Formats: sequence, structure tokens, C-alpha cells
Amino acid sequence: MIEKREFYIDGQWRAPDAARDCEVIDPSTEEPCAVISLGGQADTDAAVAAALRAGPGWRATPPAERRAVVERILEQYEARKEDLAQAISLEMGAPIDLARKSQAAALKGHTRNFLRAFDQLEWLRPLGDHAPDTMISLEPIGVVGLITPWNWPMNQVSLKVIPALLAGCTIVLKPSEEAPLSSIVFAEMLDAAGVPAGVFNLVNGDGAGVGTQLSTHEDVQMISFTGSTRAGRAISKAAAETLKRVTLELGGKGANLVFADAGEEAVKRGVQHCMQNTGQSCNAPTRMLVERGFYDEAVEIAARTAQETAVGPASQEGRHIGPLVNRTQWEKVQGLIETGISEGARLVAGGPGLPEGVNRGFFVRPTVFADVSRDMTIAKEEIFGPVLSIMPFEDEAEAIEIANDTPYGLTNYVQSADPARRNRLALALRSGMVEMNGRPRGAGAPFGGVGQSGRAREGGIWGVEEFLEVKAISGWGLDAAE
Ligand code: NAD
Repeated sequence: MIEKREFYIDGQWRAPDAARDCEVIDPSTEEPCAVISLGGQADTDAAVAAALRAGPGWRATPPAERRAVVERILEQYEARKEDLAQAISLEMGAPIDLARKSQAAALKGHTRNFLRAFDQLEWLRPLGDHAPDTMISLEPIGVVGLITPWNWPMNQVSLKVIPALLAGCTIVLKPSEEAPLSSIVFAEMLDAAGVPAGVFNLVNGDGAGVGTQLSTHEDVQMISFTGSTRAGRAISKAAAETLKRVTLELGGKGANLVFADAGEEAVKRGVQHCMQNTGQSCNAPTRMLVERGFYDEAVEIAARTAQETAVGPASQEGRHIGPLVNRTQWEKVQGLIETGISEGARLVAGGPGLPEGVNRGFFVRPTVFADVSRDMTIAKEEIFGPVLSIMPFEDEAEAIEIANDTPYGLTNYVQSADPARRNRLALALRSGMVEMNGRPRGAGAPFGGVGQSGRAREGGIWGVEEFLEVKAISGWGLDAAE
């Protein structure tokens, strides 16, 4: 059993102020695999105080030196990437190949993009020719509290910690109590990379404890949060009293508009994307909308693709999907599958219960529902499991109407061979991102949503700017004689 009860505060690993053990459960076996501590007010206060003390020194560090520290974190990644992948796979159940190639590797990709964006920042620039003595200065916001979920743990930690460091902020990170192990490896990496004491602090804890303590803390200037819409709302309320900046990356219910001219591959790709990471991605394309003339064929292709999706333990190599993260999620997903059936959707693949031959672990059968209507629960709620809902549409106008009929707005998808149609739809869909024909967003593109998906923009230059204040200064550079 891994024992990691300490927190990383002021450059040292420290025992919690009061013992409060929390087991980390391996979702493939349902057995405890590690024990951590949940912090309390004294631990949060110590971490915030360390960040506050380190603030003036770090913000005064020349940008090139902050850049060099982040470069050293990249070197640490090369040394520790297998440890990161193993930790992620164990704590949240991502199959080890996915953990290596996508989950852990996200740290490297995001960091490189942030470094490129960082080099483009103008820390001090004139407003314009019309106002020669007015300058715009970019400045770090101060102490930031970073609260992250379990589904893509290192992706989300790196999307927050790296730009905060580059911006000159000092940090208290509270990773998900479900997936704390990768963040402990990450803290060791930052220590080895020479991040000065107090600049980065890690306190484990739950939402009611450390999460709320950070959100209400008067010395924390900003909370950057990724997680559920429920917690996003609670954090916004908790943060209101101290008027801190709150940036939110929340849930999603992405629509994937499939036109007849897109063909079989587009349907297969859509199903695989929905099932990836066992459906536990906020940007998963969970509603497949199919043009009427192609609908029956698409349903058959989708059912076959789901039936061919292998399910297996996280430690096993290969392209299968792993378990869900925990029992709560398993029960929630099972309940939503039952609701889909009872509300009249047509089950064409998977269904309730464990996959055949499996008797332990939080595994789910890759499930596809056809003939889903807009008023059904499975069309409206984020399921966060390998469950796809398919529904037909008659024309572009109806496709847009169905796609936009959700309070969420993270990523929508379009599959069509017609470029003019794709472009038209991309502009009509209400979401922070639109991905078409399986093309990934370019390196450094912003990630974020609208509406109840939250309105943060992470990654690239937008991701660094979230951690900066903009100061306007007039009277700059006047002659000494004046
Ligand atoms: P969660 O909201 O339960 O927990 C996320 C984090 O917030 C955890 O660290 C948790 O301890 C903390 N937390 C919970 N309640 C809190 C509170 N009241 N105050 C402060 N902190 C609190 O979410 P989860 O179950 O870990 O993650 C799944 C959710 O995250 C899904 O809804 C998913 O869509 C969303 N998500 C969104 C994005 C995005 O970028 N939009 C990315 C990944 C996941």
C-alpha cells in the first residue's frame, strides 16, 4: 500500500496538522491502493501563507528565469513520465497505454504550447500611437488556488500550474481526492526542477474542506476550477464574499452532427471518441445526431463499434477501455442506463450490469441508445460513462436546434464532406469549441466553453492571460524636465 500522507508546503513535505486518512481505491479491483490525508484549515492556511510570502520574489523574477524553471519541469517530465502514467492508471483507471500516450503526455504538450505563448507576451507595451504616454502592463494576479478533477488529472493540473507559474503567480493546488497520486509525483518533479520554496504548494483534501477553504480564503486572489457544474456553482458562491476571480471549466453534453456524406468512418470515430477514457471526458461527443437518410445505417455501425470495444483492467496494455473511477460514478451511470430504457430509448448495444465475465471493478458495458428524443434524461444529462445517445435530424436547421438545446456548450462536432456546410455549422453551434471531420484543435488553441460548461479558456496564450491582471498607466516616460 502506497502511503502519501504529507503535503508539499513551502518547499517541504509536511505532515498534516491533524490526521485524517483517506483511501485511494483502485477502480479495476475495488481494493485500496494508497492512503493520503485530507487537509484542514490549518494546512490550507499554511500553504496560502507560504504562497503569499513567496509572491513578491516570484513576481519579481525575470520572465526568462521563470521560463527556465518551466523548461526544467519538462526535463523532469522525461525522467518521471512512467511514474506519472502508472499513478494515473492506478488512481483513476485509465488503461496504461492511454495513461502514457495521452493522460501523462498532456503535461508535455501543454507546457510546450505555454512556452510558445509566453514568448509572444508583451509584458509592457504602449496603448497605441494616439496615447503615447499610456502603457499597458501585464501583472500576475497573486496567490491562486487550483482545484482539479480526477478524469484527466495531469492534463488539468498542467493546464493550470504551468501558466500560473509562467505568469508569476504563486500556487496552492488541491487535486481531486479520488486521484491525488499523480499530483504527488508532479510536486516531486517541481521540487527537483528547483521551483523556489512557497511558489508551488500542494494540499490534498476534499471539496467541503480544502476546496471550500481555498474558495473563501481572503489571501487567495483567484480560483481556477475544473470539475462538475454543481461544484462550479458552489465555488462561485463561496468566492463571492472575497470577490476573487473565478474561472470555471465544467461539464458538457457535446453534439456530433453526422451528415450522410460523412460515411462509416465518421460514425466509428464518433463512437470511439465517446467511449475513450470510459466516457469520462467533459468534451465527449455523447449525442450523435444523424441525417435521416443515413440514420438506420449509422445506428448499425455505432452498435457494432460499441460491441467491438473491449473492456479491461487499467494495468493491461492495449486499446481497451478501463473501469469508471469509483462506485458512485458506476451507480450513477447504471441508473442513467436504466432510465434510458424506462423512458423508451432503443438499446442497441451494451446495457446495465457488468460486462460479461467480469465480477469486480467499476466496469461498464459500452452502451448505445438509438431513437433518443430531446426530452429524455439521457439526452439532457451529462452521463460521464461509455454511453452514446443517437437521434435523427431532417435538415441543417433542425440539427443546429437540437445541438444547441442544452445549457452546456463545451465542444460540438461536425462530420460532412461538404466544406461550405461545415463552416456554416461551425459558426451556428453554441459552444466554446467545434471540431470537424476528426481534425484535432491546433497546438495552443484555447479549451473552454459557454453557459453551464463554464467560461474559462485554458491552453496557449489565453491560458496564461487568465492568470494576469491588466494595468493601464498614464504619464509614462515623460521628460525629466516636466
Ligand atoms: P467534482 O466537481 O466533484 O470535483 C472536482 C474537484 O472539485 C475535486 O478536486 C473536488 O474535491 C473539488 N470540489 C468538489 N466540491 C467542491 C466545493 N464545493 N468547493 C470546492 N471544491 C470542490 O467533479 P469530478 O467528479 O471530480 O469531475 C467530473 C466533472 O468534471 C464532470 O462534470 C466533468 O464534465 C467535469 N470536467 C470538466 C472539464 C472542462 O474542462 N470543462 C474537464 C474535465 C472534467
